[in-house]
Amino acid sequence: MGLYQRWQRLRLSGLQACGLHTAAVPTPPHWLAERLGLFEELWAAHVKRLASMAQKEPRTIKISLPGGQKVDAVAWNTTPYQLAQKISSTLADTAVAAQVNGEFYDLERPLETDSDLRFLTFDSPEGKAVFWHSSTHVLGAAAEQFLGAVLCRGPSTERGFYHDFFLGKDRTIQGSELPALERICQELAAAAQPFRRLEASRDQLRRLFKAEYARRGFSEVKTPTLFSTKLWEQSGHWEHYREDMFALQPPGSDRPASSRSDHPARPPTDTLALKPMNCPAHCLMFAHRPRSWRELPLRLADFGALHRAEASGGLGGLTRLRCFQQDDAHIFCAPDQLEAEIRSCLDFLRSVYAILGFSFHLALSTRPSGFLGDPCLWDQAEQVLQRALEEFGEPWDFNSGHGAFYGPKIDVHLHDALNRPHQCGTIQLDFQLPLRFDLQFKGQAGALERPVLIHRAVLGSVERLLGVLAESCGGKWPLWLSPFQVVVIPVRTEQEEYAREAQQSLQAAGLASDLDADSGLTLSRKVRRAQLAHYNFQFVVGQKEQSKRTVNIRTRDNRHLGEWALTEAVQRLVELQNARVPNAEEVF
Ligand code: ZN
Repeated sequence: MGLYQRWQRLRLSGLQACGLHTAAVPTPPHWLAERLGLFEELWAAHVKRLASMAQKEPRTIKISLPGGQKVDAVAWNTTPYQLAQKISSTLADTAVAAQVNGEFYDLERPLETDSDLRFLTFDSPEGKAVFWHSSTHVLGAAAEQFLGAVLCRGPSTERGFYHDFFLGKDRTIQGSELPALERICQELAAAAQPFRRLEASRDQLRRLFKAEYARRGFSEVKTPTLFSTKLWEQSGHWEHYREDMFALQPPGSDRPASSRSDHPARPPTDTLALKPMNCPAHCLMFAHRPRSWRELPLRLADFGALHRAEASGGLGGLTRLRCFQQDDAHIFCAPDQLEAEIRSCLDFLRSVYAILGFSFHLALSTRPSGFLGDPCLWDQAEQVLQRALEEFGEPWDFNSGHGAFYGPKIDVHLHDALNRPHQCGTIQLDFQLPLRFDLQFKGQAGALERPVLIHRAVLGSVERLLGVLAESCGGKWPLWLSPFQVVVIPVRTEQEEYAREAQQSLQAAGLASDLDADSGLTLSRKVRRAQLAHYNFQFVVGQKEQSKRTVNIRTRDNRHLGEWALTEAVQRLVELQNARVPNAEEVF
């Protein structure tokens, strides 16, 4: 029986048992049924794919357990839960999830390859996080399906979990009703075992961010590259940062004064400067109309090109450029929202770095000599940052006296695969820009209040991060980030047309693919050339493949994956790309 059916069935008994429901249980909205239907569809496709993988690749894999024990398992079939049962029934009952080669796995998700596996129980911080995250979903499902609630935010926190939801204008939950809601959650959790989870597909770094932005309530905006220096005077950049900015005169502004006077209607021209940062533009966006506390936190994200006049000696590869992009965002919030915002910035950081395979270290930089602003405000802000860091649970240090003059900050050093540190992301508070731009919002009590500004970047310079990634993977990009995903190689010129067709289907599916139709080279030379260029996959097509509409697949490490129907091969690559697996060549 599907989860939905179980919930539907439960709903009847749940409703009878539940004191929350009077006569007015809202009819479930159509989108809820649609969404649950879509989930069932996706789930069926997922189950089908697992079955086909298990059939295609029924191989034995080795699983290393904590303590050095090794057990055999069947790829795409054995689940962590089955292994836990073999070890002990207590473990099977208490495990909440597994960690497989560092990645979190649901207990029911089949293992794919040789793995290091450890079980997470509620005793570990990771186990708690998983348990609370899942609990949030149970609470959300209960509220949605039993109370007709519209779900709002609901993350797990460091100490538990919560879910905001909307029950209609005049409806709230009384404290006396909570035991009944708790009982429904328990019923739901018991009936919903095993928990089912589907990963939504996201590809490439920017699309990864676009999805994260959508999920985390950021609005992506575009702001101009060139501004009058008046803006930079107002922001303080002209005073403190002028040396690092490219400034220019508009054409015609160097005409002699006499010729300008022929055009009395023409306004005096400004000096213009290329933006080195997005913040002043975002302050203008905040200030362009009156703001209410209801709009806060306002989170503006911008991938706009930034220009900084680095000295030529300071330039280097992708790591220091004069024009670059940042995954830049500015959060305008009320002072009492600061701590929650810092916490979600840290959480954002952790989830992106986990995907990229980076570990990281945080440092809290406190007020420097010559800081601007009220010392009490600084004290409070530094305490807020410190509390957020302590609750976050990752290693961090004090970096006393190294904050910016306008506010304290958290610097992020990430460690690449070779454990080299790189300064990339940052979370900075700013008390000065809201003053300089006279930013205000109407507070809950009706009076005008000053927002706090957070500058934050997870990657910092996107180019620098790509440089770090390139070095860290030695040019062998994981499939989902690779600029050279597949090359199609015809064995003879007679197969060139079919090879082109294969390349076009890859391209149409959104995969970066090339055709190596150089008839002057032997097949083995072309294969070698493709390996040197680190194409993740090579599709070799000869006469047999052409007649059967298949491709013969090799990886860049010269693993032979055999003959696949072209359409299936393309589909499998798209799946692996969307799942952002780090080792697509091994798990294909
Ligand atoms: Zn900024």
